[in-house]
Amino acid sequence: MSYVLDVRDIHRIYETKAGLTHALRGVSLQVPKGEFLCIMGPSGSGKSTLMNLLGCLDRPTSGTYLLEGVDVSLLDDDELAAIRSQRLGFVFQSFNLLTRATVLRNVELPLLYANVPEAERLDRALRALAIAGLPADVFDHRSNELSGGQMQRVAIARALVNDPALVLADEPTGNLDSATSLHVLQTFRRLANDGSTVVMITHDPEVAQWADRIVFIRDGKLLTEEEEREVTRQQREKVEQHIGQSQGKAAQQQEVAR
Ligand code: ADP
Ligand code: MG
Repeated sequence: MSYVLDVRDIHRIYETKAGLTHALRGVSLQVPKGEFLCIMGPSGSGKSTLMNLLGCLDRPTSGTYLLEGVDVSLLDDDELAAIRSQRLGFVFQSFNLLTRATVLRNVELPLLYANVPEAERLDRALRALAIAGLPADVFDHRSNELSGGQMQRVAIARALVNDPALVLADEPTGNLDSATSLHVLQTFRRLANDGSTVVMITHDPEVAQWADRIVFIRDGKLLTEEEEREVTRQQREKVEQHIGQSQGKAAQQQEVAR
């Protein structure tokens, strides 16, 4: 089977004045095309380090990373930059838009860098905005005039406009209310159903339930399948409890209202 993302025994050791930090200790991970994968783990467990490697923003100290079958450790900085702009789409917690540029301009920007002709640029930007679910009447608004939820939709459209092999999202719903989060998650879910590959980091077990698969990282290592099953079971219980509690509350409120 060929994977969009095939990580084998990756280590990442940071060297600082204070000494060495072994942030990733032998991570292996395979993600097939069309999978929506979620990575969860406590603060300091190595999530951002892993995300930076997957996003070709950093290189492992040892181990291999094949992206669409290409060993990215063999690429120079320019080639990595080309992969980032052409094969990857990034969605961040803080949106990272050009605040004074219009919505349309923000989404077109990756295509501008890739020298895509104007008519095609517009066409593809409009398509990406439609997938992200943004209403047409805001396309000419500056992005700093939008709500948080709309900003994140623009960021998703920007991430999709190059038709990336892999969408990487780091806490994409971290700054959003629950209704808006739901919309963002539905969009990722739909993308994966249509064959895109999505890797998302989140702290929130309810958010993680949208993924096809959840992997857990702790102290720079992924949990084994057995450890993973146990954590997944506990999380599902927590979510169910939470839902049960809010249903209970709603029932009580109805009772009081009567
Ligand atoms: P997470 O995103 O799960 O919170 P990180 O990947 O940011 O975890 O960090 C993993 C470990 O690596 C932590 O101990 C952190 O202090 C350390 N670390 C992260 N980035 C650097 C860096 N640039 N230099 C030195 N140590 C780092
Ligand atoms: Mg982090």
